[in-house]
Amino acid sequence: MNLHEYQGKEILASFGVGVQRGKLATSPEEAVEAAKQLTEETGTGWHVIKAQVHAGGRGKGGGVKLAKNLKEVESISDQIIGMNLITPQTSAEGKTVHQVIVAEDVYYPGDSEPSEFYVSVLLNRASGKNMIMYSTEGGMDIEEVAEKTPHLIFTEEVDPSIGLTAFQARNVAFNLGLTGTAYKGMVKFISNLYKAYVESDSSLFEINPVLKTSDDKIIAVDAKVTIDDNALYRRPNYALMRDEREENPIEVEAKALGLNYVDLDGNVGCMVNGAGLAMATMDLIKMAGGEPANFLDVGGTADAKRVEEAFRIILRDENVKAILVNIFGGIVRCDRVANGIVEAYKNMADQINVPIIVRLQGTNAEIAKEIIDNSGLEVHSAVQFKEAADKVKEVLA
Ligand code: GDP
Ligand code: MN
Repeated sequence: MNLHEYQGKEILASFGVGVQRGKLATSPEEAVEAAKQLTEETGTGWHVIKAQVHAGGRGKGGGVKLAKNLKEVESISDQIIGMNLITPQTSAEGKTVHQVIVAEDVYYPGDSEPSEFYVSVLLNRASGKNMIMYSTEGGMDIEEVAEKTPHLIFTEEVDPSIGLTAFQARNVAFNLGLTGTAYKGMVKFISNLYKAYVESDSSLFEINPVLKTSDDKIIAVDAKVTIDDNALYRRPNYALMRDEREENPIEVEAKALGLNYVDLDGNVGCMVNGAGLAMATMDLIKMAGGEPANFLDVGGTADAKRVEEAFRIILRDENVKAILVNIFGGIVRCDRVANGIVEAYKNMADQINVPIIVRLQGTNAEIAKEIIDNSGLEVHSAVQFKEAADKVKEVLA
């Protein structure tokens, strides 16, 4: 589950990580009120208005702007709230902005120049360890830094059973070229950031930029946070942070039905029981010259109701040109699944406008094939994996 910047900053602050302070607003009036309060609390004169959407690169798309007085706070938030924000990380259609943060300006002049760093904590699946990735090149696309100046990206691998050592936190501050107060501040920032990452069950905390202010404070100016969905049951406060407006509507609907569905770009819809078989089926579709339109694991119960729900979800995707049902009948016998498919098909025959290929294998697979073949419906049956692939190829041609 991805979070908004303001939510990520809330979590960071609760773990003692310094953040750029701000307040949420959903209208220009609220924004002006927020700005006034913020000036009272922090003494800031200027404010930054920041669009809250689940996508980075907002600055580039015009979703982050500096306001030098309350009039500008009002006009800029009026402009950003409700806008369709297109950034390098959104689709071409962009995302509607429902809310903004009014934040204190933290790039104020002082004894030294403010400087920007990049810091993230993430899971390195290859090593099975957590990793702090950091760079002196903050505020830029880290992908670009990785490509052009890879020597400016450093990493610290953290063994989860040992945790972050004091030495590693000092190493980060040292490699970022900091001294004195800023050095101490960075050590504390990194230690608390790592704690926030572990204790929130996150798989990513990306802070770009981390700012050293002109008076040597170390603070998070941005926050991109991904919390592990599988841990949300034990993090109820964070589970409440889900913003379904930012998520794929078909995925939200599928989730409510208890279906494991991931929307993809291809043209062949898949309905499968079991995640491993679903992966294999997606490979099969590719080998047949198609592209999977989705990952869908219907789970253990493939009865008529479930199959119908799955068909409806798959058909919400307009790119679907064929559906491949690939179900292994172990505990649930194939003939029961076949009856379920025939029944579901009859119930929604007027809505199904693409060919359906059904491959059932396992207990009573042959009987299941007969049920499908004799149903009189436009359902192609196949028993072998290869046959199913050939049928997909045939209907796509
Ligand atoms: P992103 O574009 O989605 O990554 O959004 P960020 O939160 O990283 O903000 C984009 C850029 O806005 C930052 O890299 C900063 O250069 C700038 N910015 C953010 N906060 C302030 C601020 O308080 N003052 C000024 N002058 N610029 C800021
Ligand atoms: Mn950023």
